[in-house]
Amino acid sequence: MKIFRATDTPLDDQTIADWLRAMRGHPFVPESGFDVTSVFRTGVGETENLYFAGVNVENPDHRVSTHGEEACIAAMVTSLGNQAEIREGWIMGAPRSLSEGTENEMGDVQLTCCGKCRQQLANFANESVPIHSISLNGAKTTTTMGAFLPDQFTFQQFNMKLGGAGPATPRKAPTARQIEEKLVRSGRTLSQDEVFDWLRSLESADFATWTSDAVVIRLGNGAYVAGVKIEEAAFVDINAMQSATAIATGEFGKQEISEVWSFTTGRDKQQFDGDAFHPPSLSSVQTLLQFAAHREIPIHLLNAEGKRRDIKLADAATYAPTFAQLNATARSQELFTAAGE
Ligand SMILES: [Zn+2]
Repeated sequence: MKIFRATDTPLDDQTIADWLRAMRGHPFVPESGFDVTSVFRTGVGETENLYFAGVNVENPDHRVSTHGEEACIAAMVTSLGNQAEIREGWIMGAPRSLSEGTENEMGDVQLTCCGKCRQQLANFANESVPIHSISLNGAKTTTTMGAFLPDQFTFQQFNMKLGGAGPATPRKAPTARQIEEKLVRSGRTLSQDEVFDWLRSLESADFATWTSDAVVIRLGNGAYVAGVKIEEAAFVDINAMQSATAIATGEFGKQEISEVWSFTTGRDKQQFDGDAFHPPSLSSVQTLLQFAAHREIPIHLLNAEGKRRDIKLADAATYAPTFAQLNATARSQELFTAAGE
C-alpha cells in the first residue's frame, strides 16, 4: 500500500524523504500545480510506528480543498478511530514540474503547515510532537507543535474528548492488514452487506455532535475506499467525502468515482431514529462533484437498521461548480510553466 506502512522501529529520515517524493504526482492540483505530500508517524494506545502518507486535493470550493496534512489525519482516523495520536510529522511541497536535484529555488523551499492544518493537528498531536519540513532537495528543518501553535485550542478545552464522548478504555491497535482493509479494498465486487459492515466498523471524530458520517466510494479502477468525518474544535472539519477522496487520491492518484454508500448515525441511541435516512452534507456533495464520473452516479443511503435508499448525485448537484466549469486548469498550467526545468 502506498499510503500506509507499519514498522517495528521508526523509519529514518532518508526513507521518509524518499516516500514523500514518491507520492509526488498523486496530488490533485489543477489550480495550484503545487504538490504537497506529508507523512505522519502515528499510534494508538501502546502501539507505535503506524505511518500514513497524504497528498493535497483541490476543490473549486477552497474550503473543502484537502491539505496534505489533512489527508494524513483522514487516513489515520478512518483506520484507527478517533483515539489515534500523531507522534511525528514530515511535510514536503514544491511545484509538480520540479524533481529532486533541481536548481530552481523552489526545490529548496521548506514548506511549513498552514494555520488551518496546525489547528487540526492540535486535536491529535500534543505540543511536544516534532514536525519536520523537508525540501524537495532534502534540506530539513524541525519544529514542534507547541512552537507552531502555542496554547492549543482543542476539544479537551471544552472537555469533549475526555468527557465521555470517546471510548472509556484505550483499545488495542488493529493489525496492519486490518488497517489496510479499513482504508481500501480491491480485487472483487463487494456485496451490500460487506459495504455496510465496513461502514459500521468506522468511527468518526465526532466529539462535537456525536453524529458520525462515513462513506465508501467505488473508483473507476474498481477499488473501494472509505472515509469518515473529522470534526475539529474550531469547526474546520474534514467531511467524510474529503477523507475518502484524499485517501483514494493518495493511494491511486486522481480517480473517478462511480458509486457511493453513505452511512450517518448517532452514538446516542435516543439522538437518532434507527429508520431515518441522512443524505451526505452539502460539503460532501461539493467534494464528490469534482470526482464523480457523471452527475447521475448513485448514492446509496444506509440507515442504522441496515435499510437502503438510493438517490442520484444530480439530485443535489445540478448547479454546483467544478474545475471543468471554471476552466481552472489552463491558468495553473500557465502559472507553472515558468517553474519548469
Ligand atoms: Zn494546510
